[in-house]
This record gives sequence, C-alpha cells and structure tokens, in this order.
Amino acid sequence: MTVTAAQPSQPAQPSGGRSSAELIAVEEAKLAHNYHPLPVVVARAQGAHVEDVEGRRYLDLLAGYSALNFGHGNPVLLEAAHRQLDRVTLTSRAFHNDRLAGFAESLADLTGLDTTLPMNTGAEAVESAVKIARKWAYEVKGVAPGQAEIIVAAGNFHGRTTTIVSFSDDPTARTGFGPFTPGFTTVPYNDLAAIEAAIGENTAAVLIEPIQGEAGVLIPHDGYLAGVRELTRRTGTLFIADEIQSGLGRTGTTLAVQHESVLPDLLLLGKALGGGIVPVSAVVGRADVMGVLRPGEHGSTFGGNPLAAAVGSAVVGLLETGEYQQRAKELGEVLDARLAALVGRGVVAYRARGLWAGVDIDPAFGTGREISERMMAAGVLVKDTHGSTIRIAPPLCIEEEDLLHALGVLEGVLAG
Ligand SMILES: *Cc1c(COP(=O)(O)O)cnc(C)c1O
Repeated sequence: MTVTAAQPSQPAQPSGGRSSAELIAVEEAKLAHNYHPLPVVVARAQGAHVEDVEGRRYLDLLAGYSALNFGHGNPVLLEAAHRQLDRVTLTSRAFHNDRLAGFAESLADLTGLDTTLPMNTGAEAVESAVKIARKWAYEVKGVAPGQAEIIVAAGNFHGRTTTIVSFSDDPTARTGFGPFTPGFTTVPYNDLAAIEAAIGENTAAVLIEPIQGEAGVLIPHDGYLAGVRELTRRTGTLFIADEIQSGLGRTGTTLAVQHESVLPDLLLLGKALGGGIVPVSAVVGRADVMGVLRPGEHGSTFGGNPLAAAVGSAVVGLLETGEYQQRAKELGEVLDARLAALVGRGVVAYRARGLWAGVDIDPAFGTGREISERMMAAGVLVKDTHGSTIRIAPPLCIEEEDLLHALGVLEGVLAG
C-alpha cells in the first residue's frame, strides 16, 4: 500500500473562532433536522484520521458510508482533482469534454460492461436505472404501456427520492411522503423462490443490493446472486445490481457480485466513485439495454462533468492496481477475527465481508447510538443503524494497527 494514513500536520483552526458546541448549536437552529449526527465537528482529515475543531483526533470507521474508500485526502485523487480544477470543470453535455471518453472506457474495463451513463448522486443512478429498465421493457420486451414492474427486496436502501422511497419498506423513510410511484413489487431479501414467483410477463427488472448495507450489512447466502442472474436470464428480465455502497473495493473484490462471478445487466456505482471529493455516480450496463436512451430522453447538467470524470478515472486507476481490494480482503480477515472474539461479550452477532461489518450489539450493553457515542468519546467514529447495529467500514487505506486499536476501543466500550 503506497497510501499511508498521514497525521494531520497542523492544529485545526477553530472555524470562525467558534467551538464545536457553538457550531452544533448553530446547526440545530439553521439546518433542517433530517440527520442526527454524532456530536463531533470535523475540521480536517487525512487517510483514516479526522480531527475536530478543538484538535481532538479520531479514527474514521464509517468512511462517509464508503464514499471515502480510498481515504480522506488521498494524494492521487487530490492531484487528479487539482489538475482538472485548473483546466476545465464543467461543460454540460451540450458539448463534449476531453475527460469523459477515458472515464467511460475505464469503467468498461473495470466492470466488464459496455456503456456508461454518468450521473452525480447514487439516487440519480437508481432513478436512471428505473427509467432505463422501464423503457427497455416497453421497447424490447414488449410489455404493455404503463405496465412495467420492477422487483425489489425487503429492507432495501436505494436512496431518498420520491420514487425510491416508494419502494422502501422503512416507515421512517416513507411516512408523510406519499403519494408513491407505482410499479414495484417487494419480495423478501435472500429468497430466490420469492423472486421466481414474483417474475411475470410485465417484469422489467430485479433490483437488489448484493449486500444490504443500510439494513445492517446483510450478506445473502452463497448462490443467491448467481441464482438471481440465472433466473433473470431465463425469464428475459434485467438484473440491476446496486453496488453504490458495496462496490469499488469495499468487500475485497472490485464488485460484490464478483464473489459469485456474476455480471449484472445494469450496475449502479456511486459513493466511492467520486473519491470523497465530488459526487459521481454511474449506471454501467449492456450496450443493447443502455441503447434505449436517445437524445433528450434523460440527462443531468452536472453528470459527466470534466472534474467528476477526472476524479472518477483516477478512482478506477486506483482499483486497477488491485491493491485496495487486496487490502480490504486482508484487513477484512483481521476484522472478522476480532469481531468473532466479541460474540457473547456484548456482540450478539455480526456479518462481515471484506472491510465491512454490521455488528449487532446486545441491548443490555446499550443501544447502537450509545455505543457509537462511547466510542466517539474514546476517539473512534462509527454509526449505528436500526437501533442496535453498528456499522464498521473504515477507509481501505487504514493501517492495521489503527484498525486493531479501533476494535480494541469497541471491546473496551463493551467491557464497560
Ligand atoms: C447511499 C446509497 C444510495 C444513495 O446514494 P446517494 O448518493 O446518497 O443518493 C443508493 N443505494 C445504496 C445501496 C446506497 O448505499
């Protein structure tokens, strides 16, 4: 690994001279309350280390929900961004730009798929795939107008737009936001028979996360992804894999579907594709499927902008070396072993693949939030999900000793 987690070189400058507590108070007053952040105000970061306004240092075990797979301030990605900032940053797709061709080529080489639709956020990639799948169903599969169905999995997380929350089953994500977009059928996750029973002549696609991240890092049984591939192939249905969180090295392979040697028809990338610098997402897919989109039918002012393409290409360059995947795999074994030792000592169960784990905390030891707060006080940042689960997903460049230290903190917090 060439990238090391360098230490912040200078003390943090308190923002505008205000303390963390003062900044949090202003946020409370002036920001929409759609988040409940841990009470840490980050002022700078490098590698897997972040530093708050007062200069307290923490290890980042969340990595921006995997948007920071390559670490804070990754020098290769920063250099790509800096160079591009001075040349050209935005053209819109009304004109070509000299970074987009290379970005699309690199994504094709990385994924084994043909064609890229560049977007910005993950939710936009999901929305785009929904539109492509529906259009493909009408134009290619011959589904009657307005009848296309997309099969999704219970417990899914695909983003926050009105259409996407229409097929969420999380009441917090949905309640109060209807009316909802029709055309989605929910089946249990990790249940091939349920998908088989749900597929009908109007089914355009099956849309799943190869590992359900927000649900608590739920890993399907071996054979599930290959089974979805086989079922969709046999029934002339598209397989859309949402790898916005699971992809780009996190699980020890470039894509989580590669654990079962599966190639979906449409692949959704986001988060780490922007290197933690700019929002970059993409639908990467089979040329014949992507071909249903024609000029004017879909777009984005910022999608495929030269800065995004330059950073995205540099991200692909990092993955082409295989170093990050290898590191996720090796450190993943360390993570797995340490978590195994905590089962029965505050941990009820955990699931891990690569450098990614969902850890179910025994409620007798505290809620996920309480454990996260206690870990924060001890200098380690994690995030709870679904009450009693905490998620561990450090930057893939984290040093082994830092990972061991952070897991020691978890152990200490659970030991009281
Ligand atoms: C984060 C996430 C999204 C949404 O991405 P945004 O950039 O937040 O819109 C979609 N799918 C999965 C699996 C995600 O983890």
